[in-house]
Amino acid sequence: MSDFIPVCEPLLGGNEVKYVTEAVQTGWISSSGKYVTQFEEAFASYCGVKYGVAVCNGTVAIHLALAALGIGKGDEVIIPAFTMIATAFAVCYTGATPVFVDADKETWNIDASRIEEKITTRTKAIIPVHIFGNPCDMDAICAIAKKHNLYIIEDAAEAHGAEFSGKKTGSFSDIASFSFFANKNLTTGEGGMVVTGNEENYKKCRYFKNMCFPVDAPRVYSHDNIGFNYRMSNLHAAIGLAQTERADDYRTMRIHNAELYKKYLSDCKGIIFQKNQANALNVHWMNAIVINPREYGRTKDELIAHLKENGIDTRLLFVSMSRQKSLKEFGCDCSGEYPVTDWLSENGFYLPSASSLTEEQIKRICNVIKGFSK
Ligand SMILES: *Cc1c(COP(=O)(O)O)cnc(C)c1O
Repeated sequence: MSDFIPVCEPLLGGNEVKYVTEAVQTGWISSSGKYVTQFEEAFASYCGVKYGVAVCNGTVAIHLALAALGIGKGDEVIIPAFTMIATAFAVCYTGATPVFVDADKETWNIDASRIEEKITTRTKAIIPVHIFGNPCDMDAICAIAKKHNLYIIEDAAEAHGAEFSGKKTGSFSDIASFSFFANKNLTTGEGGMVVTGNEENYKKCRYFKNMCFPVDAPRVYSHDNIGFNYRMSNLHAAIGLAQTERADDYRTMRIHNAELYKKYLSDCKGIIFQKNQANALNVHWMNAIVINPREYGRTKDELIAHLKENGIDTRLLFVSMSRQKSLKEFGCDCSGEYPVTDWLSENGFYLPSASSLTEEQIKRICNVIKGFSK
C-alpha cells in the first residue's frame, strides 16, 4: 500500500512560526495582544466587512451573533436540516428553537424556496450555511429576510473567501460567523470570528464576548448582563494572521483540487458532485461526492471500505438535524420529511480535501474510485 492520504491536514507554511514565536518571546499569550486586533482587522477586510471579533471557536461565534442580536427564549431560528450540529446547538444555547429546512438537491444548501413555509410570528432569524464552501442563494434569502423583517446570520464556517455575485460570504449578514478549526480552509487550530458591517452589532459582540465587562461604567467588575468568555488567545490569532496573509493562495489550491477531482472522475458513472449557482464561487472546503449505487454498481459503504484498503481516508456527511435525539429532546419539531438531506447523508462522503493535496494524489484517488465501479 502506498502512502496514507488523510481527509484533511492544515497547511502552515507562512509566517505562523514567526508570529507565534514572537508572541511567546514577548510574553503576550492571552487575548490581550497585538495579533488579536491585527487578525480581526485583516480577516474582516478580507471579507469586505468593517469589523471582526475573534472568538475561541466557530460554534460560539454563532452563539455570540445570536446573543448580540437579542435572540432568546420563545424565538425561532431557521436553519438548514443539512448542516453541522453546531448551527443548531448555538441556537439552543440562547433558548430559542431551531426550525429546519431541507437542502436543495443541486447546491446541497438550504432550499430558499422552502424557507417561507417555515416562518411563523416567532421567527427572528435565518442562518444560511454555505455548505462545503458553496455560497447559498443570498439574493433569495436576503429578499425573504427583508420581507419578513428577519435577521440573517451566515454560518460561513466552511466558506472563507467564497463569493456570491462578486461579494464575499460573510458580507450578507447582520452578523456572520466563521470557524478556524484545523480542517477549515483557514485555521488557527481552534478558533472563530464574527464579522459585521454594523457598529452597534460590533460593540455588542465585543461586550458579550468578554463577560459583559462594563464599557464606560465607573466601576469595573460591575456587570449588567450575563456575558461569556469567548476570547481568542494571541497565540491563536498569530496563526490566524499568518493564514489570512495567504488566504488567496489557499483558496486557489482548494478550487484547483476540486477541478482536478471533477476532471479525473468525469468519465465515471454514478458520481454526483455539488453544483454551484452561476454567480457563486465555491471555495470547496470539502470535496464531497454522492454515489448513485445503481449507476456506480457499488454502494457508498463498499466504496469507502475499498478506499480505506487503499490508504485513502474518507468521512461521512452530516446526519439530518431532524434525526438528532438531542434536538428532539430539546423541543425541536423533528416530524417533517427532509428527503434531500437524508439522500445526502445516506449516499455521500468526503474525499481527501487538504489544500496541500498534489495532483498525483488526486489522480491516484480517482483511479481507485474508477477501478472499483461495476
Ligand atoms: C466547523 C463548523 C462549525 C463549528 O466550528 P468549530 O470551530 O468547530 O466550533 C459551525 N458550522 C459549520 C457549518 C461548520 O462546518
